[in-house]
Amino acid sequence: MRRFAAVVVILTLLLPSTLFGADQAALVGYSPRSSQTEREWETKFRAIPDPTNLREDMRRLSARPHHVGSPYDKDNAEWILARFKEYGLDAHIETFNVLFPTPKLRVLEMVEPTKFTAKLEEPAVAIDPTSNQKSEQLPTYNAYSPDGDVTAPLVFVNYGLPEDYEKLERLGVSVKGAIVIAKYYESWRGVKPKVAAEHGAIGCLIYSEPKDDGYTRDVVFPQGPMRNPDGVQRGSVMDFASASPGDPLTPGVGATPDAKRLSREEAKSLSKIPVLPISYGDAQPLLAGLKGPLAPNEWRGTLPIPYHVGPGPAKVHLKLEFNWDIKPVNDVIVKIPGSEAPDEWIIRGNHHDAWVNGAEDPVSGTSPLLEEARALGTLLKQGWKPRRTIIYAAWDGEEPMLLGSTEWVEAHADELRQHAAVYINTDGNDRGLFQMGGSHSLEQFINGVARDIEDPETKMSVWERAHLSAIANAKGDDRKEVRQRADLRIEALGSGTDFTGFLDHIGVASLNLGYGGEDEQGIYHSIYDDFYWYTHFSDTDFVYGRALAQTIGTSVMRLADAEVLPYDFVDFADTVRKYSKDLQKLLADKQEEIRERNQELDEGVFRATFDPRRPTVAPPREEVPPHLNFAPLENAVEMLTKSAERYQKALTQKQSSLSDMQSDTLRALNAKLIDSERTLTNDDGLPRRPWYKHLLYAPGIYSGYGVKTIPSVREGIEQKKYTEADAEITRVAKALEAESALIDAAAQSLEH
Ligand SMILES: [Zn+2]
Repeated sequence: MRRFAAVVVILTLLLPSTLFGADQAALVGYSPRSSQTEREWETKFRAIPDPTNLREDMRRLSARPHHVGSPYDKDNAEWILARFKEYGLDAHIETFNVLFPTPKLRVLEMVEPTKFTAKLEEPAVAIDPTSNQKSEQLPTYNAYSPDGDVTAPLVFVNYGLPEDYEKLERLGVSVKGAIVIAKYYESWRGVKPKVAAEHGAIGCLIYSEPKDDGYTRDVVFPQGPMRNPDGVQRGSVMDFASASPGDPLTPGVGATPDAKRLSREEAKSLSKIPVLPISYGDAQPLLAGLKGPLAPNEWRGTLPIPYHVGPGPAKVHLKLEFNWDIKPVNDVIVKIPGSEAPDEWIIRGNHHDAWVNGAEDPVSGTSPLLEEARALGTLLKQGWKPRRTIIYAAWDGEEPMLLGSTEWVEAHADELRQHAAVYINTDGNDRGLFQMGGSHSLEQFINGVARDIEDPETKMSVWERAHLSAIANAKGDDRKEVRQRADLRIEALGSGTDFTGFLDHIGVASLNLGYGGEDEQGIYHSIYDDFYWYTHFSDTDFVYGRALAQTIGTSVMRLADAEVLPYDFVDFADTVRKYSKDLQKLLADKQEEIRERNQELDEGVFRATFDPRRPTVAPPREEVPPHLNFAPLENAVEMLTKSAERYQKALTQKQSSLSDMQSDTLRALNAKLIDSERTLTNDDGLPRRPWYKHLLYAPGIYSGYGVKTIPSVREGIEQKKYTEADAEITRVAKALEAESALIDAAAQSLEH
């Protein structure tokens, strides 16, 4: 009910500018006249991106393996640079030197009770012409695993999450001194060896379970899109969420030639125990060699074996050695100078490096980026003059852990703090619904753009399709909210792609966008993610690639040309209110859960349900969490809501005369607005991870890519650091009060 009350307020406030179908209303932040001009240029832009080019660009960029440091990675960077120049744009390459390990030796064998040697090899497939480029393919491995040589009994740990280890304790199973085998997914892969090491394991295997991305879901490659028995998911296991992403040897500064470098021993983000990814072909004999308790029902996959937990009797030998080389990453950067506000930057990026051929990840996003650049170059020749500076970036080294973008952000941190208004990221693209994530001050803006893009399959707007699909998928009260709220809620951003440095380290309002959801895929980070796969099983006619280029290009132009940057704080305040309520519910649920468990221990429930043939251990008794004082946060949210409404009213009333505003006044107002995301950061950063400075969004220490909203309070509660959580509530509330004051000042400059 309280959510409903907030929604009514928002609806009445948003109606004038965002009523669905009223697409000729002036754009937010534009006077009616400049809005008209803007719409004309945007229409011209959207006619330019061409599926034929998207297809040919993908064929070229994914023709050979192009991981960090490979010949074709450099070749691609130079080819992208040449395209940008051909489009008439000012472009250059920026190079950083980063630690990038590649495998020297990989051995995985079962030594007891039977002998088995893992293949660790993805075979070429005759029908797929790039799958046989053996000499250039990186072997299957997890980057930033340490060297190691361990032999130990095996334990199956489900997805390897903290709660899985709690369950193992109940089963009386310890992983101390063991090698664990975990399934991919449910958490970011680097969390699995991290949690395993915290519980005393000495090695970690991660396998692709057919139930998650193999034959259980659809036919396997090459007849279908799913992972075949030999397919392996490569990937980074850098502990970026507890430390920082980017080059492990130069945290916080750009990895330039003269940068001071840590030794590998000093680097905090390297994984602690050796870890290796394997196929389900290699995993099955190992899992079949386990006895001990049966795995809980929800842990079991669909291999034709009983899933036991262990430990042993399977004993495994894992030996890994890496080349610990410093390799170049080549970011390709375009700068289109702004005509009236060159010191306000709109930045857009997608990476170009891949684990192998990478047609889906990342080239299905890199090709649209190139088409956007071509289209912007065409408009510039026709006389379009963006008001603000536009920067396009094709990042290198995203796959090992955001190396190219993070080093660029760290090297340009001072300039970005002064000038960066918005960063827009994509990372690959597929067929289906429009998916929006980002800073909530941009929620209204990106909803507006989505209303102007046509969905290739239904011909309705991509917003309408996403809206109707949200109604279909919503449950209970949420459905009412989806129907009545003017804007679709956008996801908060965790990590896992190149927005991280911009949003979490500097505090640049960011968006992460893409289409997808209609096709299953089981080729992620394997040699089979290539042109053959993409053109048979994904956006085969590249119409969603065109839709992506249209969406992002429109967003970039609309942000670059607005008189007043189109941030909105009403949706933002509504979201922060929701997060504050979520935290209070999290604490209440925890209190209830522990109170209940303690009572059951008193009542003897565990003694009564104990099966002596399947022995389990009763859970430990715990202290019920204390109450925390959320009042400062609640009060700050009230202030924020008032300020947001005041600003929106002031902007709406001023809309018709925005073009008459003095350029100095506009500049000062936009500078304040640019600062609105910076105000949500704190120089000291989050507890124990100072690189992460945003107080509202961060990747979770134990989820990795998954976001934690109001992270210092949320993780304080989750990790039972209640005194810290209490203090963090006050710190977050202070930042929100400062945000409120900034929004009031922005409103005031419009009111006069
Ligand atoms: Zn990617």
